[in-house]
Amino acid sequence: MTNKYMYFIANWKMFGGLKSLNSLDKVNKFLKNFKKKNSVKIIYCPPSTLIYPMKERLKKTKIKVGAQNCHENINYGAFTGSINSRMLKDAGANYILIGHSENREYGETDSLINLKIKSALKSGLKVIFCIGESLQEKRKKVTKKILNKQIKFGLDKIKDKKNVIIAYEPIWSIGTGLIPKSKELFKTIDFIKKKLKKNRVLYGGSVNPKNISQLKTIKNIDGFLIGGASQNTKKFIDIIQKTYN
Ligand code: PEP
Repeated sequence: MTNKYMYFIANWKMFGGLKSLNSLDKVNKFLKNFKKKNSVKIIYCPPSTLIYPMKERLKKTKIKVGAQNCHENINYGAFTGSINSRMLKDAGANYILIGHSENREYGETDSLINLKIKSALKSGLKVIFCIGESLQEKRKKVTKKILNKQIKFGLDKIKDKKNVIIAYEPIWSIGTGLIPKSKELFKTIDFIKKKLKKNRVLYGGSVNPKNISQLKTIKNIDGFLIGGASQNTKKFIDIIQKTYN
């Protein structure tokens, strides 16, 4: 674990209704009393329907709200069913996940991701840019090549990258219970950091209260993007606490 602040980003995916917001009170109470509270940045990325009520609920807290995706067009338009970055900002989001593998799987290309990142940054959102290789690519030993390509095209012509956080999420690790070997993960994070010297790099993929003891020993990780375990308040708090134990 680094000695700077650490990010704990909760990706609720397509889970949660208004009642789920009750769980935030516990997390806020925990954070208020946590001795390392100034080293922790918690960001919740709920489904879009919960951004505004979540923001209202968290108004007096240090917990921030993020979106999970956006349409690439920053202007209003005839795009039924879509939401753009401007609308998400207006609803209360400060952050946004872009390039999540669950969206790449449905046809999100590197160039579309690039347009989305540009639009989000222009709207004043901080971008959590997700990258990662598939199991097949890992087996073929082309992880670096894939990450290179995702970074090159995803961040193409974006000069000011200060509001971009990278989340390295190997696809084979998301929701599977598998995590990379520590040495391997250190090297991959290091590879990304050498390419993007000023950006924070997070790890995501099956982070849970058990494997956090191993993950926290990897010194160059700046935080975690947590899916499944973030929907359970106890597990989410446990992960944060154990990161500092
Ligand atoms: C994610 O959705 O970004 C993620 C990392 O999910 P999980 O923690 O469930 O693997």
